[in-house]
Amino acid sequence: MSQSAFDRAAHRRKDLDFLERQLSAADTRVLPMWREQHLLCEGALLLPRLRDTTAWLDAGGELVWLGEHGGEAYFALDISPLDRPLEHAAARQAELSDLRPALLSLPAAQLELVFYARAVLLWHARHRFCGSCGRPTLARDGGHLRVCSSQDCGAQHFPRTDPCVLVLVVDGDRCLLGRQRSMPRGMYTTLAGFVEPGETVEHAAVREVLEETGVHATQLRYLGSQPWPFPASLMLGFMAQAGSTQIVLADAELEDARWLSRQELLAPSLPGFFVPPPISLAGQLIAQFLAAGSTDQA
Ligand SMILES: [Zn+2]
Repeated sequence: MSQSAFDRAAHRRKDLDFLERQLSAADTRVLPMWREQHLLCEGALLLPRLRDTTAWLDAGGELVWLGEHGGEAYFALDISPLDRPLEHAAARQAELSDLRPALLSLPAAQLELVFYARAVLLWHARHRFCGSCGRPTLARDGGHLRVCSSQDCGAQHFPRTDPCVLVLVVDGDRCLLGRQRSMPRGMYTTLAGFVEPGETVEHAAVREVLEETGVHATQLRYLGSQPWPFPASLMLGFMAQAGSTQIVLADAELEDARWLSRQELLAPSLPGFFVPPPISLAGQLIAQFLAAGSTDQA
């Protein structure tokens, strides 16, 4: 889908009167995050009304203006300073969860919201001091800018996003998957790596495949993207054709890499083998590869 259902209303970020009105509006909601964990209630995000969360605000958390959805205003709030967030009235029904396992249960409309809120809150948590002069920074523009508190410096710091490529290399009826030692047992996924400074996304995709497996990737085709705020990645997904097929695990980043046919993906012979679920961009690339096979055979 190309258009978001959530209105970031970026033109409101400098409008202090508007933001002040949203803070006191009855319907305004807040998305809390506690020490990189999220508050869930029956598999969905807890989104209490802001007016019910004064105890959280009193603890010193900074609000970030997210935007509007369904006629309601949304803010994000880092409640990490609290020792026991679930003891507050607004969270009595909630439980704390890491985001990765929660992704499978969250309603689709909430995925976008939690990726957005988490990305910007984690950016705040990591940019409290100026990278230029080391002085504290202050939030501005509804939480979408931090400005150095030193008048001599005054550097502006904007939220950052780190591009990362995912590549599914295809050789006829086979695709190239790999696994790192740190992954769950049996899991294989597309090859991945960060785009380096001064590098195009396309060059990064070819370089990462070559470094990790020795395989030459050609004919890149961009398929889509997914925010991945752990803490600040943006995944960019590509399909590619194999210009060579011999696997050499040169840089030791992968524990294993192998060519797997569609049949082997659908009826795995490797013990415990699985690939990422379709909620992830890697899972979507693999699903597209499988779907292309059924089209070929039709
Ligand atoms: Zn500074």
